[in-house]
Amino acid sequence: MTEQSGVAVLGATGSIGTSALDVVRLHRDRYKVVSLTGWRRIAALEPLLKEFAPAQIAAESESVSVIDVTVLDSCKGSRYLGGEEGLIAAATHPDVDTVIAGVSGAAGLGSTLAAVEAGKRVLIANKEPLVMCGQLVRNAALGSGACLMPIDSEHNAIFQCLPLELQQDVTSGRGIGSRSAGAGVSRITLTASGGPFLRASAAAIANATPAQALAHPTWNMGPKISVDSATLMNKGLELIEACNLFGLDESQIDIIIHPQSVLHSMVAFNDGSLIGQMGNPDMRIPISYGLAYPERASSGIEALDLVEIGQLGFERPDLERFPSLVLAREAAKSGRSVPIALNAANEIAVEAFLETRIRFYEIPQVVDRILQIHEPSEVSDLAHVVEIDLAVRALAREMVQRGLSS
Ligand code: NAD
Ligand code: MG
Repeated sequence: MTEQSGVAVLGATGSIGTSALDVVRLHRDRYKVVSLTGWRRIAALEPLLKEFAPAQIAAESESVSVIDVTVLDSCKGSRYLGGEEGLIAAATHPDVDTVIAGVSGAAGLGSTLAAVEAGKRVLIANKEPLVMCGQLVRNAALGSGACLMPIDSEHNAIFQCLPLELQQDVTSGRGIGSRSAGAGVSRITLTASGGPFLRASAAAIANATPAQALAHPTWNMGPKISVDSATLMNKGLELIEACNLFGLDESQIDIIIHPQSVLHSMVAFNDGSLIGQMGNPDMRIPISYGLAYPERASSGIEALDLVEIGQLGFERPDLERFPSLVLAREAAKSGRSVPIALNAANEIAVEAFLETRIRFYEIPQVVDRILQIHEPSEVSDLAHVVEIDLAVRALAREMVQRGLSS
């Protein structure tokens, strides 16, 4: 029997966490769940605790009393820790080999970085930390020997298309920037579904409701990333994620719309070849790839039936109707602290939109205004990143509260 690998699932109650645990259930001989974290949805966390009896549990509350005693009885010997400390303990537990970073937003920064510093194999779905400070994450991997594995579907697709020596540059944290040309890589193309408003008029988009924005045509995801997919900020964040993770310049990365979401991204080589990765739009595929790498194991998802899909479409994004793409590319170009400001402003604006405190068209307006007043600075360490993030959030909250017309 092969030795079981210890797994931490951060954000176990979310969309990524649910998909990750589905894959783990298929391979119980290979993986043992050591840590599970939820946040506020304790009712969704409890059955998982019963099922997996993890050694380390974390949720938002400082007190274990949020969890039902009968559930705690069924996982005797488990340790509970609340808040950020609990997330970090879950990510760095000594029995954990692989961490699935599935927290939503900047809230996953500390635990993702802690997992990397502890030298774990880190499957990164949580793109925001890479957007904010991918270079710090990569430096931490170079220092600790951690293995970075992108599982955001586009970045995982690119990883799958790279030659082995460049894959090793990604996992080590070196990045492929300096060696990509030597290996014949010329450009990278990220595909975007276009979201629920791909064919909507500017007027309809401006007044979209949360329910309309959350109804993604091809992917089933958590609320924040679903709204980001509707504004196309998700693709903007992914552009910055790709720059920071792979060590590439934004000018080397294109974005195209592909409504069927079956070609997940592509690498262009200098002999004219274009290599892409295809599959059904289901996160269990990249998660399974990341868990089993360099082997391949069943993800539970059937192979793509291209005949059933029939036609594949590709088009350029409309930057007028989707200004978030322009803002994100500008932030990628500016670098330094600008992506932190973009991300923080976007998180506050999306939250305000979901609580119907601002309109859909105001989301990019908040981000734009923040970028206009943000003074870029070089980013030195985690404390500095958090300081900038918190300052921008406070400013964006104030802006939303005052109203954008003032
Ligand atoms: P989700 O909202 O479904 O789940 C988020 C998880 O994080 C939940 O378990 C929640 O309890 C936890 N959480 C929320 N706030 C927290 C906080 N402050 N501290 C600690 N934990 C907290 O989100 P999701 O769709 O699973 O996305 C997770 C991450 O993966 C995001 O960064 C997203 O961009 C990325 N991602 C998601 C998908 C997808 O298909 N869902 C695809 C690619 C990338
Ligand atoms: Mg993605």
